[in-house]
Amino acid sequence: MSLFVTWRTWKSLSDPKPRSWPSMLTIRSAFLTVIEKYRPKIVIGGPGAWQLERANRLDEFNVDYLIDGEIERVFSDLFKRMMAGDPTLERIIKLPKSTQPTVEEIPVVKHRSTFGVVEITRGCGRGCQFCGPATKVGRSFPLEHIMESARVNAREGATEIMIATEDMFLYEQAANFETNVPALETMLRSVKSVPGIETLQMSHITMAPVVKDPTIIERLTPFIVPFSHVQHKESTDPDHRMTDPIIGLETGSPRLFDIFMKGKAYPYKAHQWRDVVLKGMETLNKHNWFPFCTFIIGLPGETDADTKESLKLLYDLRDARGTFVPTFFVPLEDTRMQQKESAKLIEMTDLQWEFFYTCWKYNLHFWKGSASTMKFSLGVPLYYYMLGRKLFGNGIKYPLYRFAGVPDRFMRKHLYLDFTGYKRSKGVMQAQVGEILPGFKSVREKGLNMIDATQLHHIGVSMSAGADAIQVAS
Ligand code: SF4
Repeated sequence: MSLFVTWRTWKSLSDPKPRSWPSMLTIRSAFLTVIEKYRPKIVIGGPGAWQLERANRLDEFNVDYLIDGEIERVFSDLFKRMMAGDPTLERIIKLPKSTQPTVEEIPVVKHRSTFGVVEITRGCGRGCQFCGPATKVGRSFPLEHIMESARVNAREGATEIMIATEDMFLYEQAANFETNVPALETMLRSVKSVPGIETLQMSHITMAPVVKDPTIIERLTPFIVPFSHVQHKESTDPDHRMTDPIIGLETGSPRLFDIFMKGKAYPYKAHQWRDVVLKGMETLNKHNWFPFCTFIIGLPGETDADTKESLKLLYDLRDARGTFVPTFFVPLEDTRMQQKESAKLIEMTDLQWEFFYTCWKYNLHFWKGSASTMKFSLGVPLYYYMLGRKLFGNGIKYPLYRFAGVPDRFMRKHLYLDFTGYKRSKGVMQAQVGEILPGFKSVREKGLNMIDATQLHHIGVSMSAGADAIQVAS
């Protein structure tokens, strides 16, 4: 017998003190019974599996095999070899890109997935250097595959489908990353029509298509916003519903953007990214899309000048409706930045701390209202003097005070941004930008490293050659 789980699941199950959710305790106990009775081989996979290898912790979690890569095409062969105890199979199995499955080879789920997740695309192709799906063309699942996955989930009690994709606008995309709105409308309408499904949730989108054709958002809104379970008082939907897709904004620095992620803005150029973000946010907010925006702090080579550009962008977003989540750079396996150094908390600059806490101040106000900072007013200074400064240095002091609600006029000497006198606008944010004309005409232009839908047929050809080429490492 073999047991195949994602790394995240196995870590939770192996934890003797799971974070007190009763369901996890129950599942853990059932798993341990199975493991003790059948002594299965433990096989770990999923997007985060490489973390175990890098941390050299396979023994600690009793892992027999770790698989890194998309498994569907080679699953059957690999598991037969594992069960037979094939001595030529190494403990860490790296699947090369040539074994990447076609969507036809990816089976429909057999049971309900966590959060009712249904994949609609896999891969992206925009080429961001820090990202795994960056160099895999965005493949769309056939509509019937998506529908059957939704039906499986609904049959087992799911009332919500989470539409999983690197970017929803890649679904049935045309060449040059052209968004296919009719296909998206059909897909959304069909998934919502599955008996038992009441709400839809989206995973990711990108900003550039929103700016290139703002009617995309207007046309898709009736298929998404009224069916979201998320509500916000600032939404103009009759039921105050809003949708909150994740968008990677990453940085406000055109320099860093140009080095690490220039395809993300296509057909716009790196120096236009700020305008694209602001204009896109205005359009999204107008239609009650209040996105969950992520930024990366500590990209390799980030200077104070870069962080100031990100702070300026954040300031320009002060009236936006959405959630702003600063993350720290981590070099992911199988990306072009895998050899780079992670950002380290202890090395964060004063400006980076300001960016971090200003994001969370925005979030607190957006979700809880401006009065919410009151409860932090006393706790934050205590935290700073008793623990914060020992852990992270003096650099967090003033950013933390801003988060806690201390007026900027007392701290303007110590902070880059100054919100003195600022009052959040009650209306939709207005992007102070002029006309934004595309800087690129085609993904083949010099300097871009993108794979668009025209490459889909090439992948099919390379498949058959790659099926036997499983690479192993010890
Ligand atoms: S836009 Fe960039 S970061 Fe987002 S999925 Fe595509 S390659 Fe990855």
